[in-house]
Amino acid sequence: MSPTEAPVVETVGEALVWGENQLGLPHHSSYVNEAHEILCWILKIKPTDLFLRIQNRLTARDKIRFFDMMNRRVRQEPVAYITGEKNFFGRDFIVDPSVLIPRPETELLVDQALTHVRKRGIEAPRVLEIGTGSGCIAVTLAHEMPRAHIVAIDISEEALRVASRNAARFKTESNVTFLHSDLYGKLGPEWEGDFDMIISNPPYVSTEVYHTLEAEVRREPRLALDGGPDGLGLIRPLVQHAKRYLSPSGILLLEMGYDQALSVRRILEENHFFQIEIIKDYAQHDRIAKGEMNGPV
Ligand code: GLN
Repeated sequence: MSPTEAPVVETVGEALVWGENQLGLPHHSSYVNEAHEILCWILKIKPTDLFLRIQNRLTARDKIRFFDMMNRRVRQEPVAYITGEKNFFGRDFIVDPSVLIPRPETELLVDQALTHVRKRGIEAPRVLEIGTGSGCIAVTLAHEMPRAHIVAIDISEEALRVASRNAARFKTESNVTFLHSDLYGKLGPEWEGDFDMIISNPPYVSTEVYHTLEAEVRREPRLALDGGPDGLGLIRPLVQHAKRYLSPSGILLLEMGYDQALSVRRILEENHFFQIEIIKDYAQHDRIAKGEMNGPV
């Protein structure tokens, strides 16, 4: 926006009203709150503190930043790419358009992984993550389980650069190893039978549905979303080869689409996984599939 177009906004409250109007006609109700989110990010304050400052005057620099960031949002850029951060499991991860923006459902996948490791009493778990993206799963697991070792794979070198920055940000570089690979392609034979767990949030949206996603979502890497004609194009080979890399008591944990439970269960059965479970997300949609190498005891 050029200075001549800049609106007359002096206080935090005026900025919010202006911002909400910019995002008006919400075809997406969270838009209005996104003006708050952006302003809080600029002012480095919590959303609950914003209203205490409603009368405060904005500095010239903060005003310019706010107008600029709001303009990007109006042009359908996701807020996380504008601020460069997204909170996942209580930590602010670095994100950019080369990585999928972490979703709350995926926190549930991490929860399942932590619960499993604790229940089994695995002291120093060895975890393989396929398709790490921003690294939010691998880095969170490493942080929550300081004795774990995690090998995190991605096909995108740009994504791996973001993931490494996140590993550094949360001081987990020593227990996460990043590997540039298409699925298991570059995992040498020394890793066979090695892992207590394979975890993944693979692309699982069908190509047809991908084309109907909101413009904001389509700003995210297609590689991380489009799972081919039936959305299972990556899940199939991921499951097929998982056994080779899992230890005899290993477990496979996958995020999937809400309508894929039957198909994913079948794929796990065909590949001789046992104790298959489907877990629902916060919206009561089937979201996570779990399968174990061991039969019931
Ligand atoms: N849950 C994502 C979405 O809302 C899909 C993520 C994925 O394909 N792994 O689009």
